[in-house]
Amino acid sequence: MVSVEKKRAKILEGRSVAEQIKKEVAEEVERLSGQHGVRPRLVAVLVGDDEASAVYVRNKVRACAEVGIESERIALPAATITEHLLTVVRGLNQNTAVDGILVQLPLPKQIDEASILEAIDPSKDVDGFHPTNVGLLAMGRPRFVPCTPAGIIELLVRNQIEIAGANACVVGRSHIVGRPVASLLLQKHATVTICHSRTRDLPAVTRQADILVAALGRPAFIRGNYIKAGAIVIDVGVSKITDFNEVRALFGDEADKRIQAIERRGYTLVGDVHPAEADQVAAQRTPVPGGVGLLTVAMLMRNTLQAARWRRGV
Ligand code: NAP
Repeated sequence: MVSVEKKRAKILEGRSVAEQIKKEVAEEVERLSGQHGVRPRLVAVLVGDDEASAVYVRNKVRACAEVGIESERIALPAATITEHLLTVVRGLNQNTAVDGILVQLPLPKQIDEASILEAIDPSKDVDGFHPTNVGLLAMGRPRFVPCTPAGIIELLVRNQIEIAGANACVVGRSHIVGRPVASLLLQKHATVTICHSRTRDLPAVTRQADILVAALGRPAFIRGNYIKAGAIVIDVGVSKITDFNEVRALFGDEADKRIQAIERRGYTLVGDVHPAEADQVAAQRTPVPGGVGLLTVAMLMRNTLQAARWRRGV
């Protein structure tokens, strides 16, 4: 009898890389504190009562405590208007004790998001969304780089995945993920293709990629036939699913564990990549949860440390 070997992509865990980065940040924070009496300080502004945003801010504040960064959370009501939030941001710009300012997105509809992001002092813009920092990245002179894209590059580099010369394809062109990760991959000398909702014959394009970054926000959209054999697949998407049949179709061997998660919490998370099919084709892939998301918070800690060093000249 011929035994059929089950293929399984290597899982690129985010946890160990994220822990390593946080450890490096914690050591540097202690050094700054000991030698210069400086302790970096991050302020996170949360507007409204979006449940997911509240969880993200809580995780960021918790990570600050882990690495020795001081933090403060400012919670504003859902009815906050642009002018009030601008006043809060300007106050934080002027406060010399504050190194990093983060306004959690998305903001309630009545707030003009662009004017808020533009109001943040670029030297305290630890999310890297201010036009000055976006421009510097586009010019190949990055200062503050958005955290998720920066985390993706760390994950690739620290796993010795060769970026220079690789065909990299990014699906998604958002300002938060798609565009900045494409800029960073280009800077690391990949040949970069950016895809979006108007791309013709998407699977034919993505199948050329040695490194495929999926950031489209559509659960399990990237199927096996979108992936080149032996590719590295970075799954940025985060969506909740609740349907047992869907879970069985998506998660293969892991389905029982995921069904238990739904029974416990009411949902399980899936990325933009179909995990069971990707496992048959890709060489390596990031899991959801446990992949890129963990890196995002670690990179925010690193950006806050950088902000403190640059602003205070230490
Ligand atoms: P976004 O702003 O909604 O952008 C989605 C992008 O995907 C757009 O450029 C869109 O194209 C493209 N797209 C949508 N449907 C497509 C399709 N059928 N074919 C090809 N392209 C398509 O999303 P985002 O903010 O970048 O986030 C993407 C995902 O990443 C979400 O699930 C989000 O929750 C997740 N995320 C995770 C983290 C983390 O830390 N793990 C951080 C940020 C975001 P058009 O431009 O043509 O509309």
